[in-house]
Amino acid sequence: MAKRPKARMRRPDGPNYTRRPQPKPKDGERAPSENGNVLKIIPLGGNEETGGRNCSVIQYGRELLIVDMGLQWPEDDMPGVDYIIPDVSFLRGKEKDIRGVIITHGHYDHTGGVPHIIPTLGNPPIYASDLTCAMLQKKMEDIAPEKKLRLNKVKSRDRIKLGAFRVEFFALSHNIPGSLGIAVETPAGRVVHTGDFKLDLHAHVSNRTDIETIKQIGDKGVMCLMCDSTNSYAPGHQVSEEEVEKNVELMFSQTKGRMIVATFASLLSRVQQILVAAERHNRKVLVEGFSMKTNIEIGKQLGYIRCKPNTIITWEEAQKMPPHGYLILCTGAQGEDNAALMRIANREHKYLHIERGDLVVFSSSVIPGNDRAVSRLKDGLLREGASIIDSKMLDIHAGGHAKQEDIADLIKLLRPKYFMPIEGNYGSLLENKQIAIRAGVPENNNLIADNGQVVEFHSGQGYVTSVRHPIEYVFVDGLGIGDVNALVLRDRKQLAGDGMIVVIAQINTRGGKPGKIDVISRGLTHMKEQGRFISGMIAVVKKSVADKEPRMKPQEKDLRDKIRRDLEKFVFQRTHRQPMIVPVIIEA
Ligand SMILES: [Zn+2]
Repeated sequence: MAKRPKARMRRPDGPNYTRRPQPKPKDGERAPSENGNVLKIIPLGGNEETGGRNCSVIQYGRELLIVDMGLQWPEDDMPGVDYIIPDVSFLRGKEKDIRGVIITHGHYDHTGGVPHIIPTLGNPPIYASDLTCAMLQKKMEDIAPEKKLRLNKVKSRDRIKLGAFRVEFFALSHNIPGSLGIAVETPAGRVVHTGDFKLDLHAHVSNRTDIETIKQIGDKGVMCLMCDSTNSYAPGHQVSEEEVEKNVELMFSQTKGRMIVATFASLLSRVQQILVAAERHNRKVLVEGFSMKTNIEIGKQLGYIRCKPNTIITWEEAQKMPPHGYLILCTGAQGEDNAALMRIANREHKYLHIERGDLVVFSSSVIPGNDRAVSRLKDGLLREGASIIDSKMLDIHAGGHAKQEDIADLIKLLRPKYFMPIEGNYGSLLENKQIAIRAGVPENNNLIADNGQVVEFHSGQGYVTSVRHPIEYVFVDGLGIGDVNALVLRDRKQLAGDGMIVVIAQINTRGGKPGKIDVISRGLTHMKEQGRFISGMIAVVKKSVADKEPRMKPQEKDLRDKIRRDLEKFVFQRTHRQPMIVPVIIEA
């Protein structure tokens, strides 16, 4: 067996993002224009990550329009962080110039920052589809019930004027109903923003891309197309919802026992498909999971969910039925710890357990980063005796994002002068640029910006400028917003990785002699092993205090630092570990 490399004394570094190198200037970057009336696009989030805190600002003169305000889920090296929201420092002091906020659809990575950020920006009006408005209102009630959002419902083909901006909305297919793209007309040209989309021309009419309006917008002339890059690496066209419907039908007709169908709670079109298929095959539906129940309720009120009054049943009713008489529709297809499916798999659910013969259906794709959790979940279900179908075995899920050929089709409809890939990590943005080049956009007319980097359009020319507004991670942890920073995370990682030692040293005020010394440790070594180790540490602290320079006052930071340094060295020599060390000095 290979020997583990010997540990070196090292300070625990912050996570990578604390030392993100200054990005290299890109080819063709220009100094910003001196002219006041230029059109600017500033991505504040979503251009360096997948499924990230999407947020863009469109600016003409002083006037500002914000598109989306999403959240990003934390990385593994961000312990305790609930999520990350866009850094809107750039907008501080400009609140009165914000003409409106447009939210393209109801997914968290486009809406999650709203309840936290909107109240701090002078509560500007929000424009979104009926479903998106309902979801935003629900989120606001959950997080800050005393505050009210100024929500305005819009629909496909609506046109509104917000200061210098004339905004036209058009429907797009995506895996949540009520998704809208926008065309923003400004004195310096028209900008189209796709939000998240796919071109599913066979989707149910309520969730179909409005090709007619898109064509008309293309005919009027588009200066810049800001385009979803999530699936730009995938060749071909996205699977159609029609295909999914056929396969769902097939699955229902072949399943004899109980079915457990897991999908995204926001995927209301899939939820509707399952309900319809259940009714056709004489199955009732038991709904599990808080967000699934909430979204079905919202969907029913707005007409996105339609089913017979007795299709959805309670557990009491389900208990009296044979296994083939009902199905369980639940959340948790991403392996989330607290979701219904994981609790069922772990036998932690109050009343639902896997029974032999159950078929568990994953009608979802695995979000990158969730792979391990999902495979653990599947193992758990298989051990309990279930069989599994997922979208790799049968097309029972269609992704929500345009693939290469869909993007090329959209570019051909809109014929933009400039193409700006958004919503993706750097690699996906580059892939999207290649699609645009193949679809006829000249290479130099592709504008790739980092988060915070300003893109300008001036006298009919578009370019990426050298101006970069600083973008930090803004962490949300419980009720705190922005009170967790890279230093707090470094402490958390150190505590989690190597534990902590607290030294309480009494020092005689007159002579400065050390008195009683206590050492308490947590998460470092097992207590039984600690006797000699602790007496060693006490000896080190005694020596530190005795060796201190005569002028050092007991309460001075220098003395605490000396104790910490001496103890760090001792602990590292003995254990090759670097716990957090907290010296406390008491004058006696
Ligand atoms: Zn989305």
